[in-house]
Amino acid sequence: IRMSKVHNFNAGPSVLPQAVLAQAQAELLDYQGRGMSILEMSHRSKEYEAINAQAEERMKSLLGLSDSYRVLFMQGGASSQFALIPLNLLPADGVADYIVTGSWGEKALEEAKRIGNVNVAANTAEGNFRSLPSADEIKLSANPAYVHLTTNETIQGVQWSALPDVGTAPLIADMSSDILSRPLDANRFAMIYAGAQKNIGPAGVTVVVVRENLIAQGRKDLPMIMRYSTFAKNNSLYNTPPAFAVYMVNLVLGWIAEHGGLESMAIRNADKATQIYAAIDRSGGFYRGHAAAEARSQMNITFRLPDEALEKKFVAEAQAHGMVGLAGHRSVGGIRASIYNALEPEACIALSGFMDEFAQKNG
Ligand code: PLP
Repeated sequence: IRMSKVHNFNAGPSVLPQAVLAQAQAELLDYQGRGMSILEMSHRSKEYEAINAQAEERMKSLLGLSDSYRVLFMQGGASSQFALIPLNLLPADGVADYIVTGSWGEKALEEAKRIGNVNVAANTAEGNFRSLPSADEIKLSANPAYVHLTTNETIQGVQWSALPDVGTAPLIADMSSDILSRPLDANRFAMIYAGAQKNIGPAGVTVVVVRENLIAQGRKDLPMIMRYSTFAKNNSLYNTPPAFAVYMVNLVLGWIAEHGGLESMAIRNADKATQIYAAIDRSGGFYRGHAAAEARSQMNITFRLPDEALEKKFVAEAQAHGMVGLAGHRSVGGIRASIYNALEPEACIALSGFMDEFAQKNG
């Protein structure tokens, strides 16, 4: 369906499954014989309600969630969750713990500080966000309202593999850049949230998975639109939802399920990541990975070249070879290859081959 297909390493918005885009294209003008597009339909229609319910159901099933969770479709991006979490869940006399392992965790922390009392339980900023804190480097407070962490730091390319033990405190995770990329014990989390535009859909919808007891504890003096309870009571249909984005998420969730679910996503993603990390490791120091080996992300692979001129040349030549989106985030520079679920393994094989050649010619 595409005239020229590139290998898309963008960090988000990012590559979507070709089959999902093809289905959306086929249905765009006439959704299931209704004579109109899903873009033109009421969010109160039975067609849209079915999509909304199926997306919630699929998310629960992929994550293996018990009935004590709700899946909410909200707007404002993961960034608005940075504020809504402390607004709803951090009482005036309480404290929230933040484990900071990169730029996004730092942003979440800064927002929470504007709202209530926070304890920085760990922060790896001093080491330039290359590694993860060890168990004894994490200083939780006695009775935190919640503990917040970022499972995958998109900018630095640092990912938790085994999560830290936070005891009985409610654990809240920003999973924007690794949600549904690997199996996990989702029932360990009080809340998981993610902007959809990396692993599960287009920009415009934020998925929030939250335990019912946490929803019930939410502050009651907030404006309606800022409460989780409002979205839960109304099945995410309190006001007009980002209907097309939810429709796309629902298709992507179906695609993940069809392709073997989280176990097979994890195998696919690990194989892809190995291709690129191996090219870094065999380059004899030409490529230097940003993340410490044990903290390497399976989603965003970050590395530097000997100098910035070579990095520019790398990005330009890669682009000429049909590989796009490889420039690192402006705050850290270098190269970043984002290799979300939908990216085909061939893209990573192509990139690792290009890396070998480039190192040979320019090393
Ligand atoms: N958290 C993480 C881990 C991210 O990668 C991003 C990326 O954009 C955000 C939060 C911010 O998300 P949004 O742009 O949806 O507010």
